[in-house]
Amino acid sequence: MKPFSYMRATSVDTAVAAASDKALFLGGGIDLLGELKEGLVDADLLVAVARIPGLDAIEQTAGGWRIGANATVAAIASHLELARAMPALTEAAGEVGSPQIRNVATLGGNLAQHSRCWYYRHRDVKCLKKGGSTCFAREGENKYHSLFSGNPCISPVVSNLAVALAALDAVVIVQRRSGESRLSIAELYAAAWVNPLAHHSLMPGEMITAVEVPAPPTGRSVYLQQSERSAFDWALVSCAAAAAVSGGTVQKARIVLGAVAPVPYRDERAEASLAGRRIDEASASRAADLILEKATPFAFNGYKVPVAHALIRRALLAIAM
Ligand SMILES: Cc1cc2nc3c(=O)[nH]c(=O)nc-3n(C[C@H](O)[C@H](O)[C@H](O)COP(=O)(O)OP(=O)(O)OC[C@H]3O[C@@H](n4cnc5c(N)ncnc54)[C@H](O)[C@@H]3O)c2cc1C
Ligand code: SF4
Repeated sequence: MKPFSYMRATSVDTAVAAASDKALFLGGGIDLLGELKEGLVDADLLVAVARIPGLDAIEQTAGGWRIGANATVAAIASHLELARAMPALTEAAGEVGSPQIRNVATLGGNLAQHSRCWYYRHRDVKCLKKGGSTCFAREGENKYHSLFSGNPCISPVVSNLAVALAALDAVVIVQRRSGESRLSIAELYAAAWVNPLAHHSLMPGEMITAVEVPAPPTGRSVYLQQSERSAFDWALVSCAAAAAVSGGTVQKARIVLGAVAPVPYRDERAEASLAGRRIDEASASRAADLILEKATPFAFNGYKVPVAHALIRRALLAIAM
């Protein structure tokens, strides 16, 4: 492992001021320390942000909730009021890894984590995402890979929290030297859709400080995932859905798939197909058909299409009740 300096930041300002192009923010370290040891990333300086005072708060605001970037995944999963207001988020958090991982992993680190593609994670393989010339997964082992991508890399987004937060229309607060910006979840990952090198849209030195989630008008939201093992495992496919329902009919719905694209994947036609309708088997199935219409499976991930179809239907029927 290449030597690096270490600095424990005491405020967002000191963290961002210290972060040069060759610095990396360190949250709980679940992802970053492994990547450093394997030589997948390197840095001259690690800026530890996990102990910045106050940045782990989970607070109700006039418009909804504000969750600090250092809130642990466990704190989100076990927050009773959050669970009442936006169950999709607490359910997604409860499915992350294992209790040990959830106790350490932070919201900011979960959103900014890197690809789990096994070619990317192999220290001796230089694929497209590491600046090489080939995506080995396209013709190789692609069981866990994407059904949709805007670029030749087919490594999917694996952050559970990103999928739930996209369904909940959350805004990510990012601090950079030039000031603060507010990104939708779509904007946070937009670069990964078009650029094989990108895991997300953050540039060096840009720090997530919080996520704001508007209060859903009905509180109807859900997160479901299918994994190979019931614990300590990633989602093969996940689905989060949220809807404003009035008098039994949908005013507005958001449906988001995880682990099928380099971004939390939405299809506005599918969401629009539910507007003004009751959610039932037929409308849920139609929405699932629309979302999956353009799926392009590879040799070993075709199973994701029926799994995603079932999860979308189940998620929609769950929020209809
Ligand atoms: C066995 C195993 C199973 C797992 N299963 C799941 C799962 O099912 N679902 C899931 O979602 N995740 C899963 N994970 C991933 C895990 O949740 C993430 O690695 C963890 O959330 C990262 O958070 P962290 O605070 O440890 O981040 P770190 O490892 O410290 O950082 C991760 C990345 O984010 C950057 N970063 C950290 N904080 C910030 C910030 N505030 N602003 C900007 N950038 C920042 C770092 O520079 C680094 O690039 C699993 C991990 C393991 C090891
Ligand atoms: S899917 Fe992406 S990360 Fe995996 S081998 Fe292809 S280019 Fe590399």
